[in-house]
Amino acid sequence: MIRKLLQRVFKSKQHATHSTPGAKKFNKRSHGIDKRKISTAALKTTEGLHKARFDAFIVGGAVRDLMLGRTPKDFDIATNATPEQVRQVFRRSRIIGRRFRLVHVLFGNETIEVSTYRGSHLAEENGVQHDDAQVADSGRILRDNVFGTQEQDAERRDFAINALYYDPATEEVWDYHNGVADVKSKTLRIIGDAETRYREDPVRMLRAVRLSAKLGLKIDRATEAPIAKLADLLQDVPPSRLFEEMLKLFLSGHAMESAAALREHGLHHGVLPMLDVVLEQPMGERFVNLALQNTDDRIAQDKPVSPAFLFASLLWHEVLAAWQKYQAAGERPLPALNQAMYDVSDIQAEKLAIPKRFSIPMREIWMMQPRFEQRAGQRPYRLLENERYRAAYDFLLLRCESGEMPMELGEWWTDFADATMDKRKAMLQPDTEPRKRRRKRRSGAGAAPAET
Ligand code: ATP
Ligand code: MG
Repeated sequence: MIRKLLQRVFKSKQHATHSTPGAKKFNKRSHGIDKRKISTAALKTTEGLHKARFDAFIVGGAVRDLMLGRTPKDFDIATNATPEQVRQVFRRSRIIGRRFRLVHVLFGNETIEVSTYRGSHLAEENGVQHDDAQVADSGRILRDNVFGTQEQDAERRDFAINALYYDPATEEVWDYHNGVADVKSKTLRIIGDAETRYREDPVRMLRAVRLSAKLGLKIDRATEAPIAKLADLLQDVPPSRLFEEMLKLFLSGHAMESAAALREHGLHHGVLPMLDVVLEQPMGERFVNLALQNTDDRIAQDKPVSPAFLFASLLWHEVLAAWQKYQAAGERPLPALNQAMYDVSDIQAEKLAIPKRFSIPMREIWMMQPRFEQRAGQRPYRLLENERYRAAYDFLLLRCESGEMPMELGEWWTDFADATMDKRKAMLQPDTEPRKRRRKRRSGAGAAPAET
């Protein structure tokens, strides 16, 4: 009992030091956040921390979204408690991360991420340019591990609107970089010197473009200016991070706006090698735009979207070009497609680490395409039964709509899938394949060749 009391006194002493001279404080009337839009899990987390006499603020994207009247998809909490201290407050929690440790607090199926205020990112103290990959590779101890004050924590964040701290207890928003004003004027402004911040972490350029597209914000002039010049820095971003960012760009319901904004800022080179080449071919651009529109529509209707399908679409016209090249060189259609697929995935893999769980179905979607052209015998039935049929069929429809394949082919498959047994039989095309070859295939000799 006494120990607990002492601990509390000690804690509150230790942590009553957050100095906030730089923060402007906004009350409920001026920021307009509706507390009811905050998840109970997030509120329980801040309450728990407050009871233990720590700071606890909702921070980052959630505050920004709440102020914009949107419902946040997740809640991050910033605190002055160390990860160990947070861990002690919540029974169902675990410390994660090696470079910078934070705590996941679990409530049912919701996870709240709690991070300790991080120290200044400014490189002055040892003159080292901050780059995640470099630092990690050289094994140097990261300054990232340094805890700091709330003010320093705010300074490390990327944009002013992402550096707002909301305290559910007082319903105040604390603002160090005029983020509240930026939200009101719908401006995306980087904290500090834009070029320096992009050099520290080039992904911030993608985030600028993505957040402005998603939230309908105008990028401030000084924030936007260096992007074109620094676009090449994306080459040095580890592929796994690029991949994560790609998913956010294209699978959050604003793919069309995001792609347009990427192009406008010359960032599409950095994201997908050769995507610029694809987009310059009218058919390629049409195909990619249809695919992105399709993705946005599905998200708007709460239908699932798959990264495999997305990447299959984004890369298809590269595959197609290589496929045609190999066929022109005398290769048969299927081996040519196979070769083309692997060429394209190899080139992309250097830049963009598409995890196997997505790249395997992506290749299956591609590999099934020639089979849609076979409309005789048992083959259409077998295709329908394939577990990837639905995705491959949707993909075929995109090819038809983009003008690459005749519409009639897509319509045939739509009808065939829907038809009764008798109707299906009547729809089949005459089987012109010689008997002998058919028997050979059925006995399992090799993959079905495409007869085109
Ligand atoms: P989204 O709505 O896409 O989740 P977000 O701003 O919440 O947008 P997160 O990746 O969830 O993005 O990041 C949470 C917060 O972490 C951001 O609001 C920002 O304050 C900070 N942050 C994220 N990435 C960076 C970065 N590259 N540099 C500096 N701060 C960052
Ligand atoms: Mg977020």
